[in-house]
Amino acid sequence: MTVYLLGAGPGNADLMTLKGARLLAEAQIVVHDRLVDPSVLSLASPDVETIDVGKRPGRSNNQEMINELLVTLGLEYSSVVRLKGGDPFVFGRGGEEARALQEAGIPFEIIPGVTSALSAPLAAGIPVTHRGVASGVTIVTGHSQDGSTVDFSGLVHPDVTLVILMGVANRAMIAEQLYRGGLSPKTPVAVIESAWTSDQHVLRSSVDGLASLDICPPAVIVVGAVAALDLCDLQSVASLIA
Ligand code: SAH
Repeated sequence: MTVYLLGAGPGNADLMTLKGARLLAEAQIVVHDRLVDPSVLSLASPDVETIDVGKRPGRSNNQEMINELLVTLGLEYSSVVRLKGGDPFVFGRGGEEARALQEAGIPFEIIPGVTSALSAPLAAGIPVTHRGVASGVTIVTGHSQDGSTVDFSGLVHPDVTLVILMGVANRAMIAEQLYRGGLSPKTPVAVIESAWTSDQHVLRSSVDGLASLDICPPAVIVVGAVAALDLCDLQSVASLIA
């Protein structure tokens, strides 16, 4: 018996690890999140049982219940795949699930996934670090589970890209705090909706336009000079070289 906490990537089966794809194909039962794309689930055997424990915005599905479910299934099946969007340890509460399994003495393994924090910007042609433009990246949630939020004013740094997950609902407050921290209102912003899926859509603006953008979640918000780049676009590449 083993429970695999498996990173499904940002929403496209091609972006899963080979190990993840193999484990999914061999799984006896699959427990998955809402953000896991059907193309990923199709890698599982067609007759495998799947359980959707997805949390919808405003309805916090009890993490406690999910932890207990994994322990119960771990005792019953020899191979349980707990499929999580992106990487299991990036705002995925994978740590809590791992701890619950550990405490119950259920063998488990954690398989990394391609996180949306880095791959959603990439899908829009945005390198989160770029020599001479951004020497670092801060990944932060705009909406923490316990209701507390990070004070964004303390995160302002001219050479560091800010990547915000789960930030759509609080975007006006985030912009306010960034101003307070000294960020220029004209700092470029990019919002990548449903990266790597057929619904992918990219919005470009600046911090002063963030609050009024019409955003359809799930979305990653990128703040910083790199957000103006589109290295999928030849014109933008030419202007960088010039
Ligand atoms: N563990 C996941 C993140 C889970 S938190 C990871 O590593 O990617 C959920 C948040 O991730 C969403 O609110 C959104 O901000 C972001 N997200 C996940 N998948 C996304 C996608 N395909 N496109 C854009 N944002 C995504």
